[in-house]
Amino acid sequence: MNANWNFDNSYARLSERFFTRLHPTPVSDPKLVVLNRSLAEELGLNAEALASEEGVAVFAGNRVPEGAEPLAQAYAGHQFGYFNMLGDGRAILLGEHVTPNGERVDIQLKGSGRTPYSRGGDGRAALGPMLREYIISEAMHALRIPTTRSLAVVTTEEVVIRETELPEAILTRVAASHLRVGTFQYAARFLSKEELQQLADYAIKRHYPNGEHASNRYLFLLEEVMKKQAALVAKWQLVGFVHGVMNTDNMTISGETIDYGPCAFMDVYDPKTVFSSIDTQGRYAYGNQPYIAGWNIARFAESLLPLLHDEEEKAIELAQEAIAQFPTLYETYWLQGMRAKLGLCTEEAEDKKLIGELLHLMYTYRADYTNTFRALTLDEWHFCEKELCDWYTRWQKRIARQDMTKEEVYERMRQNNPAIIPRNYRVEEALAAAVEYGDNTVMEQLLYVLSAPYAYTKEQEEYAKPPAPSDRPYRTFCG
Ligand code: AMP
Ligand code: MG
Ligand code: MG
Repeated sequence: MNANWNFDNSYARLSERFFTRLHPTPVSDPKLVVLNRSLAEELGLNAEALASEEGVAVFAGNRVPEGAEPLAQAYAGHQFGYFNMLGDGRAILLGEHVTPNGERVDIQLKGSGRTPYSRGGDGRAALGPMLREYIISEAMHALRIPTTRSLAVVTTEEVVIRETELPEAILTRVAASHLRVGTFQYAARFLSKEELQQLADYAIKRHYPNGEHASNRYLFLLEEVMKKQAALVAKWQLVGFVHGVMNTDNMTISGETIDYGPCAFMDVYDPKTVFSSIDTQGRYAYGNQPYIAGWNIARFAESLLPLLHDEEEKAIELAQEAIAQFPTLYETYWLQGMRAKLGLCTEEAEDKKLIGELLHLMYTYRADYTNTFRALTLDEWHFCEKELCDWYTRWQKRIARQDMTKEEVYERMRQNNPAIIPRNYRVEEALAAAVEYGDNTVMEQLLYVLSAPYAYTKEQEEYAKPPAPSDRPYRTFCG
């Protein structure tokens, strides 16, 4: 049986200083836990072959498929504001699979053993966090948010040692590419100008091919990445997604969400929401994400300086002019998304105020973010407080001022307000069943309901419930 892997590895043709060639470390007795059949189909892969012993051996890192050129990528990055040399410490890029439609995607094994970039780490991953990445990344995709995808998770006979011994797993991650802001920081700091230029040209060709004709292609690259990231983070804010570890090595050049370590969805609306156990200062709190994205973009711009202009001063001027646009760009995307969530299709100067007031009311009344929009969408918003009543009346009047029927307004809202998100307690419940009891049915059902978040089906209602009140805040770990 042929899985139909079709590798063409453009990254492996860059300067050797961008990576280290090495094979994944073999594991004993790998078993398939979950396979993403619909993604396999999208990629032109044969799901039956992927699920066979030979297919699973590829996901485990025990067999390198024909045409793959495994390597670990080099990159650097600011982690919580501090610059470090990093690189794939527990991941191997098998290569780039080219789909029958000519789309090129990275196929990466995460948790595939130590590499020269592992520092103190064991190069491995635990089953729980890999399944968590699988669930949340697929949920993000269904929410129409650009993201890396998850093709498969396999578990092995071995254990990883964290606080306790945990079953080990390897995730197969699919991405438009794994180029990061941190890849550029690495080139700018440690490599030659020629190598930095090679990387920038590569990124343009792979992700922003229109830039090949721009008068200043590197400025074009900066501006396009800014747009993609502004649009991405706006989408996160609109669904209440807290990434949790927005280090510059976790910001892609393609504009996909990457690195599902400590991320989680917000329940009660609060800009200070933090889930990650290591984010003690709240640097990556929900409300900070747009500012951090801007900060990361500034690091990207810095790394491009030698390419932006031959004269340093002019380069700085160009970079500053560009990054000054980021807050406006972000706000434009966000406002556009918020208008859609409230069923607005026209623009009025007061819209931003109307939206801000709703958010403020949510904050004051400790309202669930997703379910407030859900209730508005279903016209089930029940309250007796006067200020909520006032807001609702103003919103209804605002809706009435556009040339749209009530049905059209509510349809627009359905398209833009998810009926469900991956609730933290639901994710935990699915992981506990899979990891502790080897029962994948809870996860499969969760994946199923999360695959159509705008469907508003009857069976989703159970999954829309907010968590039961708890005196302990939800905490996430890097895995
Ligand atoms: P992250 O916080 O996931 O962005 O990872 C930051 C860096 O730590 C990257 O260079 C990872 O490859 C590396 N890393 C994370 N976990 C491990 C591990 N278990 N073994 C080796 N390296 C790791
Ligand atoms: Mg990372
Ligand atoms: Mg990570």
